[in-house]
Amino acid sequence: MKGKLHVFAPLWVEFLAVRRALPHARVVHTGMGVARASAAAARVCASTAPDEPVAVAGFAGALRPGVRPGEIVVASEVRTPGGGPIPCPSAPLVANALRRRGFTVHVGPIVTVDEVVQGKAERAELAVSGALAVDMEAAAVLQHAGGRPVAVVRVIVDTPDRPLWHPGTLTGGAAALRALRQAAPALKDWSDSCRKRTLLLAGPRSFCAGVERAIGIVEGALAQYGAPVYVRKQIVHNLHVVRDLERRGAVFVDDTDEVPDGATLVFSAHGVSPAVRSEAQARDLSVLDATCPLVAKVHAEARRFAGRGDTVFFIGHAGHEEVEGTLGEAPESIRLVQTADDVAALDVPDPQRVSYLMQTTLAVDESATVVDALRARFPALRGPSSDDICYATTNRQAAIRRVATASDVVLVVGSANSSNSQRLVELAIRECGSAYLVEDESRIDLGWLANAQTVGLSAGASAPPALVDRVIVALSGLGRTDVNELVAATESVEFAAPKVAPRP
Ligand code: SF4
Repeated sequence: MKGKLHVFAPLWVEFLAVRRALPHARVVHTGMGVARASAAAARVCASTAPDEPVAVAGFAGALRPGVRPGEIVVASEVRTPGGGPIPCPSAPLVANALRRRGFTVHVGPIVTVDEVVQGKAERAELAVSGALAVDMEAAAVLQHAGGRPVAVVRVIVDTPDRPLWHPGTLTGGAAALRALRQAAPALKDWSDSCRKRTLLLAGPRSFCAGVERAIGIVEGALAQYGAPVYVRKQIVHNLHVVRDLERRGAVFVDDTDEVPDGATLVFSAHGVSPAVRSEAQARDLSVLDATCPLVAKVHAEARRFAGRGDTVFFIGHAGHEEVEGTLGEAPESIRLVQTADDVAALDVPDPQRVSYLMQTTLAVDESATVVDALRARFPALRGPSSDDICYATTNRQAAIRRVATASDVVLVVGSANSSNSQRLVELAIRECGSAYLVEDESRIDLGWLANAQTVGLSAGASAPPALVDRVIVALSGLGRTDVNELVAATESVEFAAPKVAPRP
């Protein structure tokens, strides 16, 4: 059951703005300061159900130059100068609801103090701890919230360069009031999604052996040679992985001609065509090959099948880097087949000499349909010695199927260009009707969760496990969350990385 939303607003102007925006919530005027806010929260929390969500809404002062008047700070935690932090785990979800309403939103700690902060020096002192904003009530309210879902939304009025008693604060205050009125409905979205729920984790999920190996090769090169280390294309299809490696000195390029002479170049996990290898060789680049061994196996089959005179049908998605690399192994002999509908139009020199291969990250059931269509048209069709769809893809699809059949909605952590993540979403939609791909917890739409008592969660093979943990934390901030894992397979595959030799 969803509980009633209780919103605490310190000043009368804040109270009136929030009450007008949230007619169905219980909006409480606390009065200014720690003591008044604490007394009001103690009274309300003692007399209401212990799972009803509690929010604080109003104005705050910025502690950092980048946080400007009219922008919003959503507290990731609230602190008192001497006390421990009170976490607000669902902050990224509240922030997303506000961004969707057009606000510039910062997520970070808010510190609650006893008196109005005056000078720049006082703000600078408070900012040392990492806090983004200062108020006089949030921690005092939240200390009474117990295990309830909590949220703090503060519109910035004053800043280090424009203190409270500044001529510009008056007009800024009017704009902030408008912003508060427009922002408050995001708290309704949030409270509508607060409920006791079950989270079903798909096992296995997240990193596979090929991705771990590829990332390890870039890390090894950075450790051995220092920055910069050049990587052709994204090492794996995940924005967080790429940004993290960029911060550490990796430089991602689209092609070999962007790499300076004598530099180290890493080929991504998706593999490259022989033409790209030749270009790197001609440039005398020092190459490290992070192609997944299971992709390399498909390349070897493509060469072998084409070498024996077959026309090779490669089942895959046009434009994907793995597909481009494999097609490049024997461009004259390989034909790309994307769907069963493509099969009728295929024209081959000898129907007795045909074989097929697949992209490693395809949907198992859909690719079987394409193979059936090929076999019906070409009875002499031969296939690979073992499945091209890799163990990681197969296991993650089996796991998400189990989870999706028991869920109201499924979230898949992964980047939009991740083929295996996209296949997980498609499969989950087929099983439960509602599934979404999210880069991380900050992209979750509260509307997806409003009626979801059971949420399934998985991650593509290129998505770091830490991102899944962050999603779990954010969802657990919406109320009591029972986390269970449904394990479809256990994995013990490891691929040894090539040794990164000292630079000659
Ligand atoms: Fe290798 Fe499969 Fe992982 Fe791709 S998804 S890197 S083919 S193990």
